[in-house]
Amino acid sequence: MLTNLQARDVATVLHPYSNLATLPRQGTLILERGDGVHVYDTDGKPYLEGMAGLWCTALGHGRQELVEVAAEQMSKLPFAHLFSGKSHDPAIALAEKLKELAPTPISKVFFCNSGSEANDTQMKLVWYVNNALGRPQKKKIISRIKAYHGVTIASASLTGLPNNHIDFDLPIAGVRHAACPHHYRFAHPGESEVDFATRLAAELDAQIEAEGPDTVAAFIAEPVMGAGGVIVPPETYYPKIQEVLEKHDVMLIADEVICGFGRLGEWFGSTAMEMSPDTISVAKALSSAYLPIAGVMIPEWIDEALIRQSEKIGVFGHGFTYSGHPVAAAVALRTLEIYERENIIGHVRGLIPHFQARLQALADHPLVGEARGKGLVGAVEVVADKATKRAFGPKQGVAPKVVALAEQEGLIVRAIGDAIAVCPPLVITEAQVDELFDKLARALDRAE
Ligand code: PLP
Repeated sequence: MLTNLQARDVATVLHPYSNLATLPRQGTLILERGDGVHVYDTDGKPYLEGMAGLWCTALGHGRQELVEVAAEQMSKLPFAHLFSGKSHDPAIALAEKLKELAPTPISKVFFCNSGSEANDTQMKLVWYVNNALGRPQKKKIISRIKAYHGVTIASASLTGLPNNHIDFDLPIAGVRHAACPHHYRFAHPGESEVDFATRLAAELDAQIEAEGPDTVAAFIAEPVMGAGGVIVPPETYYPKIQEVLEKHDVMLIADEVICGFGRLGEWFGSTAMEMSPDTISVAKALSSAYLPIAGVMIPEWIDEALIRQSEKIGVFGHGFTYSGHPVAAAVALRTLEIYERENIIGHVRGLIPHFQARLQALADHPLVGEARGKGLVGAVEVVADKATKRAFGPKQGVAPKVVALAEQEGLIVRAIGDAIAVCPPLVITEAQVDELFDKLARALDRAE
């Protein structure tokens, strides 16, 4: 029986990423407030935020300092744009800060509002810059099966998940998907992680050769794949992949929307995973999700190509009304300052061994085929048969059942196919990590 608020909700709100057929029966969990790593529903029941919202509320809830900086900026200058000769201090200061923190040399930052817009911009820049460089045939972008890069037409095309393509008539032309670097699922019998990574790099090499290296412009990758099920590539994967990309003059785009700002114990996931990207997408923890803001960081050679193109054709015709919104930029800048002041990355590094040990302990559970993760993100994959790795399949709904039981226990986690993802706020304490995994273990026990 739905509450009045739930009934009004399902009657009026078209919910993103939901089963629209079952949601009206099941109802929604309606949250009212948050405090630290906990959120509270309309009955006042607390939940430990095991997913940091959607991989984003890095500092948790109730940071008054961020509220104040937003209010100050709203009072002073609630809106100003960056189009045609205008600018403002929050965007300038944030771009400078990102440049200082970037894992590879960058020249400028293009601001947008979401991870999808950032990756959409990445694709447009790849096309535009290759036209500017006089190689209009070099346009294809290779992503990976199970990648998640967003839901706009371009970014959903880069995403490598069936639900983002089927009946949306996607992907668009010029996007290709390479193999997913998930050893547990896709390694040949007896193949080591090193051999698996080497094979995937060889397959990418063959794929680029088959497409024609002159037609392939970029490879996009999340350092650790998130919304595809938390997939951590083998250690040797990116170095091997990058050899292939360099050989064919294919640029590397790092989608740091989840991994950026501490998730893997480094400022950027690229550092943790030995990637040297040309361009970088950031969002989510950039503002700890207090306001929507995202960015694309570009190196000097792209910056110069863009300038030369303007010399030829005039205006760089790309930008959003809210690119670098002053209130969001002020909040993001303060968020980055808090990460530094409170040594959040040091805190994460200190927690990682305990978090990963508790995660790995779940691998012994009869329902769990694989427990995997890196930094403060992880997943357990439930299987019908541990020995053969036989999957339940999403239709059987075991992972959603675990998520529902976890919710009863007062823990929010997320089902992705047969995987259950955990990605808590970075400010979580060791005792709260224990609370998280105790609750998840109880939910798994009850789902058996
Ligand atoms: N890229 C990655 C790696 C993501 O995880 C997401 C969202 O989860 C996106 C892009 C899309 O971001 P948004 O939902 O802000 O458009």
